[in-house]
Amino acid sequence: MKIAVIGGGAAGFFAAIHASVPGAEVTIFEKSPKLLSKVKVSGGGRCNVTHRPMEISKLVKNYPRGEKFLKRVFSRFKSEDTIQWFESRGVSLKVEADGRMFPVSDSSQSVIDALLIEAQKLNITIRKSCGVRSILSVSGGYQLDTDEGEYYVDKLIVATGGNPKLDNYRFLENLKHTISDPIPSLFTFNTPKESLRELMGLSVSDGIVKIEGTKMTYRGPVLVTHWGVSGPAVLKLSAFGAQWLKENSYVANVLINWNGAYGEEQYSSHIKSYMAAHPNRKLLSNTLFDVPARLWEHFCARSTIESGQLYGTLSKKQINKLVQNLFCYNLKVEGKTTFKEEFVTAGGIVLDEVNPESMESKYHPNLYFAGEVLNIDGITGGFNFQAAWSTGFLAGENASK
Ligand SMILES: Cc1cc2nc3c(=O)[nH]c(=O)nc-3n(C[C@H](O)[C@H](O)[C@H](O)COP(=O)(O)OP(=O)(O)OC[C@H]3O[C@@H](n4cnc5c(N)ncnc54)[C@H](O)[C@@H]3O)c2cc1C
Repeated sequence: MKIAVIGGGAAGFFAAIHASVPGAEVTIFEKSPKLLSKVKVSGGGRCNVTHRPMEISKLVKNYPRGEKFLKRVFSRFKSEDTIQWFESRGVSLKVEADGRMFPVSDSSQSVIDALLIEAQKLNITIRKSCGVRSILSVSGGYQLDTDEGEYYVDKLIVATGGNPKLDNYRFLENLKHTISDPIPSLFTFNTPKESLRELMGLSVSDGIVKIEGTKMTYRGPVLVTHWGVSGPAVLKLSAFGAQWLKENSYVANVLINWNGAYGEEQYSSHIKSYMAAHPNRKLLSNTLFDVPARLWEHFCARSTIESGQLYGTLSKKQINKLVQNLFCYNLKVEGKTTFKEEFVTAGGIVLDEVNPESMESKYHPNLYFAGEVLNIDGITGGFNFQAAWSTGFLAGENASK
C-alpha cells in the first residue's frame, strides 16, 4: 500500500510516522529544501511542543477555531500522549510557570532529531524540493502532479500547513473541499498615535483587554512595545478577534484595565480610602494597584495631577480621570505587527467536511487532512503544535488501516 504525505512539517511527520505499518510504503513530499522548518524556529528556537495537561473540556477552549472538532480528536491523542511520545524517544520536556512545555535542552533541534530518527527507522521516503501542484482522485487512489513528475498512491494525507494567501490552497482545487478564507492570527496591535508607546518595555502581569463595542475580553499579561501593545492577553484577543479585526481593517478601540483584580468601583474606593489615610503623601512617589511606577506617572500626567501633588488635595475630577486610566485606558489600534515568536493562519479546510474520528475527508475515501491546513488554530502556548500532533496521529493511524 502506497501512502503519500504532502508537507514535511510537524503534522506531516507525525502522520507519516503513524502511517508506517508493515506493508505500507510512506513518502513525504515537501516543496521546500528544508524539513520541519517551523519547528526549528518555533518558540524562539526552543519549540513550545505542547501545553501542560488539562481536562479536554478546558484544553479545547484555547482554540478560537476548531473547539468542537478537537474534543473528539483530543479524546484519542492529547498533551499527555505528546509528552509520552517525545519522552519515550529521549526528548525530556519541562513545564514553565505559564504551562508552556519545552524540551529540557531548550533547543528545537531535539524535537527535530527525534522526528527525523523515527522517520529513518521506519524507512519513510522523503522527497525534498518536490512540491505537489495538483491532485486527481483516480479509481480509489490519487494521482499527484509533483515537481518531479506524476506519482500514484492508494492513500493521501494533506498536511501542507497554513498560509494567509488563498492561492497557496489552489493545488487542492480538484478535490472540491471548501476553504474558509485564510487570514492571519496571533499578532500584536499597532497604536501609532498613542503616547503610551514611549513606555515601551513596561508590562503588567494581570491586565484585561477588550475591543470596545464587542464582547471580546481577555485577561493576562500585557506588554507595551515600540509599536503598541503585545503580551498573552493581546495575542489572545488577536486570535479570538482575528475575523472581526480583519473585517474592520485592523482599526479598533481597545480598552485596557491594567490590574484585573480591580473593577471601576474598587479602584475609586481604594484611592479614596488611601487619600483619607495618607493625605500628606505624594501621588507620584506612592504608586497604587501594583502598576509599574512609569505607568502610574503616565496616568497621573493624563489626569492633570501635578508632580508634587498630595493625595489629600485630589479633586473629584482627578480621581475620576485616574480611575478611567486604570480601568478603561482607551487605545486607538491602527494596524498589526506579526508576532515573531509564533503566528498561525485562521481558516483552511472547513471542518464539517472532515471526520474528526479519522481525519478522513467526507467527500473522498482514503484522503486525510492534518495540521494547520485545517480550519483549526490555537492561541500561543503550545496549542498549535498539539493540534498538529493530534490530527497528524489520527490521520496517520487511520490511513494505515
Ligand atoms: C515563527 C513561528 C513560531 C511558532 N512557534 C510555535 C510554538 O512554539 N508552539 C506552537 O504550538 N506553535 C508554534 N507555531 C505554530 C506552529 O509552528 C504551526 O501551527 C505548525 O507548524 C503547523 O504544522 P503543520 O505541519 O500543519 O504545518 P507546517 O509546519 O507549516 O508544515 C507544512 C509544510 O508543508 C509544505 N507544503 C506546503 N504546500 C506544499 C505543497 N503543495 N507540496 C509540498 N509541500 C508543501 C510547507 O513547505 C511546509 O514545510 C509557530 C509558528 C511560527 C510561524
